[in-house]
Amino acid sequence: MTSQTTEHLRRRNLSRVLTVLHEEGERSRAELTREVGLSRSTMAGVVAELVRLGLVTESTPALTGGAGRPSGVVRFADDVAVVAVNPEVDAVHVGLVGLGGRVLKHARIETPDTDVATVVGLAAATVTGMLAGDPVRVLGLGLAIPGQVRMRDGVVRQATHLGWSEVPIVEEVAKATGLRSWAANAATLAMRAESRFGAGKGVADLVYLIGGASGVGGGAVMAGRLLTGAAGYAGEFGHTVVRPGGAACHCGASGCLEAEVEQATLLSAVGLDAAEAGRLGERMAERLAGDGDAELAALVAEKAGLLAVAVRNAVNVLNPQAIVLSGFLAALHGAAPVDLVGDAVAAIREGIEVRDAALGEEQLMIGAAELVWAELLADPAGFLADP
Ligand SMILES: [Zn+2]
Repeated sequence: MTSQTTEHLRRRNLSRVLTVLHEEGERSRAELTREVGLSRSTMAGVVAELVRLGLVTESTPALTGGAGRPSGVVRFADDVAVVAVNPEVDAVHVGLVGLGGRVLKHARIETPDTDVATVVGLAAATVTGMLAGDPVRVLGLGLAIPGQVRMRDGVVRQATHLGWSEVPIVEEVAKATGLRSWAANAATLAMRAESRFGAGKGVADLVYLIGGASGVGGGAVMAGRLLTGAAGYAGEFGHTVVRPGGAACHCGASGCLEAEVEQATLLSAVGLDAAEAGRLGERMAERLAGDGDAELAALVAEKAGLLAVAVRNAVNVLNPQAIVLSGFLAALHGAAPVDLVGDAVAAIREGIEVRDAALGEEQLMIGAAELVWAELLADPAGFLADP
């Protein structure tokens, strides 16, 4: 074997072992050896190098009386993290996330200003505050943006709710924090989080829709791969037409799902404000219980019917195994006795599952962090050698 091939194999093994740990959590060295399919001595070398790189620790094996060699448990180093940033219409979320999608810290800083300088300044100051006196090794920064982000260079093409257009956000935030940075569409990142750690774990063909204050986003995983499209904009289910000639949408068209089904409408119908969106499902259920609120029941049925149009189109085009609903769309689905896939082609809707997202409020922090973890996992030694 040439030394180049040996080097390539060594790096690939680091990547495979760290990826299993990231996706599945801590493992004994014996379990890792079985799952990854390496020899015992090769695995010993891989774990030793991951420990040397400061990414994992290995506990000393307990002495057992039984047969076979005892095996230490390999787990993530506690002091390695990435920064996650998610600007929204009314606040900036900043988090510290460890390997395995563990959210270590999460702050929501309210701000009425969403201009780029304010968001970057708030994010940088919050990161500095979070790290003060905490010996965490930060490997990079991931941004979840409610808008279209060009994957190649992290330029925000358009984020209408923030008022951003053609913003080189990755460059700006890297300059302000000194951290290597990446950015992508928020809904796509929330889906990546659910797909890796939540309701979509293990589902190879998945359609994901999320609704929040900034509208409706989405994405799809097909044959285990993220559907990106040519430049990274695929999966905008919020801008599929559910009512031709309907309400005007931010995107310039009309009758989009996002324009026809809005979180604010449902919140005001049950007397909640934007900060209470997490209680929407529960509040609607209370109001609809028994012979409850007929007006609300009609509104919910209408909005769920429009959601069903978008879902039916997605299902007929993509033939997913599961649909994952998040944010207020999950609340709407829970409140409405509407079969969202009932009108899809019979063979295509067979066996399909409609599920609620599982990661709650941490979804976007975990998803934004995935941008950095993906770079590390692809080549741990190379990533750390290239600061
Ligand atoms: Zn639209």
